[in-house]
Amino acid sequence: MAFAASEGNLSPALPLATLIGRELRGDGTERPHVRYGHSGFAKRGEDYFLVKPDCLRVPGDPSSSFSVFAVFDGHNGVSAAVFSKEKLLEHVMSAVPEGISREDWLQALPRALVAGFVKTDIDFQRKGETSGTTATLVVVDGFTVTVASVGDSRCILDTQGGEVSLLTVDHRLEENAEERERVTASGGEVSRLNLCGGQEVGPLRCWPGGLCLSRSIGDTDVGEFIVPIPHVKQVKLPNTGGRLIIASDGIWDALSSESAAQACRGLRAELAAKLVVKQALKTSGLKDDTTCVVVDIIPSDHCSTPPALSPKKNQNKLKHLIFGKRSHSSVGKLSKSASLGSVEEIFEEGSAMLEERLGSNFPPKANLPPFRCAICQVDQEPFEGLMTDNVGGCCSTPSTPWGGPYLCSGCRKKKDAMEGKRSNRSTTCR
Ligand SMILES: [Zn+2]
Repeated sequence: MAFAASEGNLSPALPLATLIGRELRGDGTERPHVRYGHSGFAKRGEDYFLVKPDCLRVPGDPSSSFSVFAVFDGHNGVSAAVFSKEKLLEHVMSAVPEGISREDWLQALPRALVAGFVKTDIDFQRKGETSGTTATLVVVDGFTVTVASVGDSRCILDTQGGEVSLLTVDHRLEENAEERERVTASGGEVSRLNLCGGQEVGPLRCWPGGLCLSRSIGDTDVGEFIVPIPHVKQVKLPNTGGRLIIASDGIWDALSSESAAQACRGLRAELAAKLVVKQALKTSGLKDDTTCVVVDIIPSDHCSTPPALSPKKNQNKLKHLIFGKRSHSSVGKLSKSASLGSVEEIFEEGSAMLEERLGSNFPPKANLPPFRCAICQVDQEPFEGLMTDNVGGCCSTPSTPWGGPYLCSGCRKKKDAMEGKRSNRSTTCR
């Protein structure tokens, strides 16, 4: 799918064409203003961020605009973070079916985000470089916010009444027992760094590689069980809007979600981002790269700070929105039943199994030849076997039949490697 982006701000002066487009649509959907600010301090210079406030879902149609924000916290070099900043959004968009309605696009996004993250990882690993990165990508379309994340750069949401919710999950081995189990089951070893003399130090890491994260993009020199499959959450904000704070762990190691939100309530986004960073540095000093992007989603009848975020209304409530796990059959479907407070949860899935993420609920066209790989979007070779029920090719251990959409042989190998069923490496450091 083609899309366009410019660096302009969505608000407050909207082009005439936007206004006309809204009139013509006549669907009564008010689109909020999106304002944003960024701040950061570099210690190692491995943090990157992305701000694309005026992307178009339908080329030439301003009423199809959406905004994208992201934070990438690199490690062992900058190349994975730079590559992800340049390619991730493009790869996500290429996995969105063309010519679909806004509702279908929002519904297709969670699956496209999974495909885009995995494709970015595959493409980066082909370069043979060893760096890695966290990636937290946020798509804002009207009042609907979709967040996809690997690693430990968080996105929090602050809404009316001072309710602060976490839209991401930390993929840190130390704090995530479920991820430790998955890594171990896929052939990784989880332990602390062992010094001479048997003394164990530092956080839990996985071996080979010694990474503290359980998911990332890149990291060619660690096991394939460190997967690029993102946790995805989609919510609809109340019509009073809200504020997103997207930041690398330099912020979250110093500040809780609540204190970050509290520190900047009532301030415009640019100032808010600066203040969050300042507060984090004051609390724990500059230990690591520290990057913060603040995004305000403001009802169009309010022109400055979101009214929901005025300090007076702050009730200092911390509310982690923890929702029940979806059944697999609901993957990719809009489920509007779950609603907590004024934020409506639409979708949440964090499984590291591609079959569960790409699901059986793929667009009907994808079931007809020629098949297009659901991850890299490459069309099937004319003489390639029908692999909609493939089991991984000649080199892998046959397993349960694949219930997901068509994958090309390269992406099937990647899938099997991530699940510990085969090695996808020409060289490994085991
Ligand atoms: Zn593929």
